[in-house]
Amino acid sequence: MSYAIGVDIGGTKVQFAVIDREGNITNRHRVPTEANKGPEQLMNKVLLGIDMMMESIDQEEEIQGIGIGSAGQIDYREGTVRYAGDTLPDWTGTAIKEMIARRYNTSVYVDNDVNVIAIAEKMYGVGKDCDHFVCLALGTGIGGAVMEAGRLIRGVFGGAAELGHVSIDINGPRCSCGNNGCVELYASGSGIARLGLEMQRNGSASYAWRPNARDIIQAWHQHDPSATQVMRIVIRALGSAIAGYIHTFNPEAVVVGGGVAQSGPRFLQALDQEVNARTSSYMRGCCRLIPANFGSDAGVIGAAAQVWHYGESSCSQYMI
Ligand SMILES: [Zn+2]
Repeated sequence: MSYAIGVDIGGTKVQFAVIDREGNITNRHRVPTEANKGPEQLMNKVLLGIDMMMESIDQEEEIQGIGIGSAGQIDYREGTVRYAGDTLPDWTGTAIKEMIARRYNTSVYVDNDVNVIAIAEKMYGVGKDCDHFVCLALGTGIGGAVMEAGRLIRGVFGGAAELGHVSIDINGPRCSCGNNGCVELYASGSGIARLGLEMQRNGSASYAWRPNARDIIQAWHQHDPSATQVMRIVIRALGSAIAGYIHTFNPEAVVVGGGVAQSGPRFLQALDQEVNARTSSYMRGCCRLIPANFGSDAGVIGAAAQVWHYGESSCSQYMI
């Protein structure tokens, strides 16, 4: 048998898994990130977790490689963190690939956490019969990845497809990226909470609890009037952004995942209608809006799947 080890480094937890060629998880482990303790302790956790995964395989030579997916903007060639914001403070500049390659005699791949989700979809999900698709991860923020002819769109160093930082309102609130009205400020978990809080501050909210995305979405399902108003803005904002992605990339599918998207089919149905109303019919006609395949395992499966994606196909990571 051949196996790949995957590590998904996020703001709250680090997930480890061993997967086989078909993408099945044969062993897994998870630890809290504790990002506030600094990059050194985090890197130590990553190495210890990889050790544990290595030990779970009978023959070490069956390991074909190690793949890492990390929050932040990742230089995929160097395997370093170009920029990590508040999610992973001080993580910027960490030479992830070098530290792992020094310790293990196997191939190492490092990429952004949403790019690796797109690789999981390419290998085992929507991408099995589709070469052009956009991935959106609606979590605390909004992450994006674009697969074009079976390859990730990279830009100069790998920072392309920051789809959460597309503005849908030039007069909107200031975003951390420097722009105004980025879609992330409306349709991410923190964006939904922000809209809910804004409504409460101007005295028009029907709820008295401190708003967070999960509770607002739940109240929306129960037809709470204020939550309905918030979610109308969320869906309009996201629908507008997705229409822009469809016009820009002409994809066969837009794959929507992450915690916000996992709130049930009603969210995707409402979004589908909004996107339909905002997209040229000749573009929309060949594009499906679909839920992501792997839920909370997407990151760790995709991290490991880099080993098969780059190691076995003609799709060298460095040719892209
Ligand atoms: Zn922004």
